[in-house]
Amino acid sequence: HPAIVWFRRDLRLADNPALAAALNNHRRIVPVYIHAPDEEAPWAPGAASRWWLQHSLTALDARLREHGSGLVIRHGRTLETLRQLIAETGANAVHWNRLYEPATIARDTEVKEALRAEGTAAHSHNAALLFEPWSLTTQSGGPYRVFTPFWKACLRQGLPEQGEALSEIPPETLLPSAAHSAALDTLGLLPTIPWDAGFNDHWQPGEAGAWNMLREFLDHAGARYAKDRDRPGQRSTSRLSPHLHFGEIGPRQIVHAVRARQAADARPGAHASLDSLLRELGWREFSHHLLYHFPHTPATALDERFARFAWRRDDADLLAAWQRGRTGIPLVDAGMRELWHTGWMHNRVRMVVASFLTKNLLLPWQDGARWFWDTLVDADLANNTQGWQWTTGCGADAAPYFRVFNPVLQSRKFDPDGVYLRRWLPELACLPDTALHAPWEAPEHVLRSARVRLGSDYPRPIVELRASRQRALDAYARIRVMP
Ligand code: FAD
Repeated sequence: HPAIVWFRRDLRLADNPALAAALNNHRRIVPVYIHAPDEEAPWAPGAASRWWLQHSLTALDARLREHGSGLVIRHGRTLETLRQLIAETGANAVHWNRLYEPATIARDTEVKEALRAEGTAAHSHNAALLFEPWSLTTQSGGPYRVFTPFWKACLRQGLPEQGEALSEIPPETLLPSAAHSAALDTLGLLPTIPWDAGFNDHWQPGEAGAWNMLREFLDHAGARYAKDRDRPGQRSTSRLSPHLHFGEIGPRQIVHAVRARQAADARPGAHASLDSLLRELGWREFSHHLLYHFPHTPATALDERFARFAWRRDDADLLAAWQRGRTGIPLVDAGMRELWHTGWMHNRVRMVVASFLTKNLLLPWQDGARWFWDTLVDADLANNTQGWQWTTGCGADAAPYFRVFNPVLQSRKFDPDGVYLRRWLPELACLPDTALHAPWEAPEHVLRSARVRLGSDYPRPIVELRASRQRALDAYARIRVMP
């Protein structure tokens, strides 16, 4: 009997435990992707994620074809579709790798119970995380809410890197599946407006693209990551986030590659720098730990006092200005335009734009998280929820509520020569560095000689930074004293 390998966000052949387990017991496998976005509601993949998915599925299909097989694509309710595939192919087992969002856990549990009750073996595996979220507990037996002890516990256990499952499948070993596949284009994943035009310049979805990204990072940026990772104008971080989200590369593989590079590069700075990349993977683990143990948090903050926070809910214009990069604050606008044009934003700038939305504009973090959800190619429920709550100051191990990022100081500190700002705000490119970060403070003659008319070429700030900061602190102070 063949086995079905149900691909979801594990779109790779190497280090894929579900695929490896199926291949251990079956010569013929049916590799299938089932498109069922409604089953992930209210967090069905956003537009940028769907773009990625289209190309990643294409890449996976090509990889499977190299091995003599090919991806079977179906659209419809998962359980019904699996039952149909079992009937069509005579499969007696289904293997998949686990997901950790509340909706996918509920769906997968239902699928597993139903298949087993009907006599089909159903096995789930771990491809996405270094540690299962339930495998780490504090001394009192509960989940972690603070990152540092969580990460120490991970390091004490030892980061897993190499295993049976890392092995590659020899070419031409899979037999073609008997199941009929729908054409990928019938899933309607690509946007109807050509907003994704720039994405191709920045990304190569799929397993090969993930490895190219990792190699490029290790060769060119790894040794200076710790020093430069906060500089948005430089190519200093790995940009692996969408590849990790779609499981085109797994964290064990990254740990393995990093450890190998550390062994080969004896410079102490390089070693420590790569340790800080692993620590960021630790934040990814921590986010998944939090989402698993606090599944309500994509909708409501972990810090319950925020249920009574006086958000402004009436200002669609302010939200639209933020979304489209028209706030008049250069670093915020550059970040929002980078997001729109590339589907990604540098982490430091994500913190700045999130702080600006939730504090200076006093708009709910959920509005920002939703926009990110639709526009980020790496949109990930665990990381996005944690990132927004951390910056807002309403999550686990959050920045203190009174930490309001000053976008002008952040800009001067992390983009001192304006490389990032000029890249995304060409209308300000001729301003000297002294005026670039806060053009509204520049003398009129400086603006004139750079041919910048505030209010027409580039907006004036939509809020006054100092007063809006104080308004946020006052609002926070009111919930702080609440029990
Ligand atoms: P690197 O610095 O190279 O880090 C390597 C990997 O570690 C990343 O690919 C990512 O998987 C993980 N990582 C790094 N930083 C974090 C972090 N702070 N939290 C969790 N994991 C991390 N990340 C997402 O993957 N998806 C999201 O939807 C997302 N939303 C965010 C929203 C806000 C408001 C903020 C402040 C952060 C968010 N992040 C999110 C975290 C972080 O910004 C991105 O993971 C990072 O910018 C991706 O770039 P990189 O791959 O070059 O990161």
